[in-house]
Amino acid sequence: MPRRKPSTSQLAIVDRNGEADERPVAKRPLDFGERWSYAPAPEASNYIKLHDRYQLFINGRFVAPKSGNYFDSINPATEEKLAEIGAANEKDIDLAVKAARRAYRNVWSKMPGRERGKYLFRIARLIQEKARELAVLETMDGGKTIKESRDIDLPLVAAHFFYYAGWADKLEYAFPGRKARPLGVAGQIIPWNFPLLMAAWKLAPALACGNTCVLKPAETTSITALHLAQILQEAELPDGVVNIVTGAGKTGSALINHTDIDKIAFTGSTEVGKRIASAVVRTKKKLTLELGGKAANIIFDDAPIDQAVEGIIAGIYFNQGHVCCAGSRLFVQESVFSNVIRKLRDRISTLRVGDPLDKNTDIGAINSRAQLDKICELVDSGLKQGAQLVQSRARLPAKGYWYPPSFFTGVTASHRIALEEIFGPVLSVMTFRTPEEAIARANNTPYGLSAGVWTDKGSKIFKIVNQLRAGVVWANTYNKFDPSSPFGGYKESGFGREGGRHGLLPYLTLS
Ligand code: NAP
Ligand code: MG
Repeated sequence: MPRRKPSTSQLAIVDRNGEADERPVAKRPLDFGERWSYAPAPEASNYIKLHDRYQLFINGRFVAPKSGNYFDSINPATEEKLAEIGAANEKDIDLAVKAARRAYRNVWSKMPGRERGKYLFRIARLIQEKARELAVLETMDGGKTIKESRDIDLPLVAAHFFYYAGWADKLEYAFPGRKARPLGVAGQIIPWNFPLLMAAWKLAPALACGNTCVLKPAETTSITALHLAQILQEAELPDGVVNIVTGAGKTGSALINHTDIDKIAFTGSTEVGKRIASAVVRTKKKLTLELGGKAANIIFDDAPIDQAVEGIIAGIYFNQGHVCCAGSRLFVQESVFSNVIRKLRDRISTLRVGDPLDKNTDIGAINSRAQLDKICELVDSGLKQGAQLVQSRARLPAKGYWYPPSFFTGVTASHRIALEEIFGPVLSVMTFRTPEEAIARANNTPYGLSAGVWTDKGSKIFKIVNQLRAGVVWANTYNKFDPSSPFGGYKESGFGREGGRHGLLPYLTLS
């Protein structure tokens, strides 16, 4: 793994007793914390039916890509090839958009909301039935722990379809006195960090409102979207209502530029989001963007520190830090700084890194080699700019892509690790003295997706929350989601909301 060796004065390795090991790297015992490891508890995966090749899902059928090209999807925990995935080109995109247009005109826009709702309820129930299998597939293809895919992703995926199924026949109550009409065909592009959940966030509201969809999953995590396509077939969703086209950025770009699309919904990086915004600005296409973040998690001296430390852990190490709303900048009030750092050190030393299919694993595999390189490069920059790194001693498997839970202290506002999204299990810790300073520093970022506040005082929560420029602010908790709650950003984190009644708006015109 291309990890730069930091100078020892800048690096502390913590073992499972939370002790900092100050000895030079070469002199440290290898197995220091292994004595209280759990026995392996792998989730069964031998019943999972992976296809050798996954085709595109267009007009209700699986069809070979016109290019004849396929790309590999690998398991990032083992580097083993799982399957080949069809690479869609402009011709495939055109077929998918045409199928979506036909389905919109002839079937879906004419169907009463209560009938559309029935399909969505059926899809939600089928997802629940197959939740375990889908969770295992999500973990195998993306590297996230089974604990997360099974207990967080899949329940939320089903909940999202249930929630919007309920809205399908109640749009007139969502916007009283207004007539709500669908937009037409939606082109939807999603990233790799929550593959099925992002698909649900895109498809469920669009379908509830009467639109048809062409969805492009991320290149490294397409498999579960294509298993979802099988569920759509089983639910007998009319042909062409949802089309799933796989491929890399070029496929996404072909979808964005197709002229017969009414709505683009994109979740991904700010860089690509900006490119998309400039591509659609002179067209009739409506646009929503859910982009990156660099959230502030603020801990006041009156906070319940043990709970706050658990919140920090959930905020940054959850899903390997592959979370757009991750609490990646931690602001700690000076008077409790040493206490928080000590507890944080102890806690990261107990996080288990390894086989994502093991039910005890806390931190799974980094999604791809490219993402691991990005994390390593940013950690290097932190060391070069003078910050101190604390890193867990967790033993990393020999194969696959891994990064140990880590945090930086001695971070200043101008360090790259304080400004840029690392998108890995690496936290930047800074301090503040007054609430005003905390607010100013938290808002000092081009992003505005989420934030967290930890304090014992309700009045302080209200004061701070009102001044934070972030779409979601969690108080005394972190990374909690519910389909009825809107999610989205300010500033360079994008615009538009997904979830809740607000999540219907991007898929409707109101008159
Ligand atoms: P990304 O590179 O922007 O990719 C996102 C999606 O866009 C992928 O499907 C990608 O395909 C596709 N794509 C790439 N280039 C494109 C182009 N020129 N035109 C159209 N589509 C294109 O983002 P990522 O690095 O995979 O994902 C991580 C980012 O997503 C982070 O910045 C994170 O903060 C953000 N995110 C935001 C939210 C939110 O709700 N705000 C949620 C999750 C993630 P390929 O994967 O095949 O390249
Ligand atoms: Mg994969």
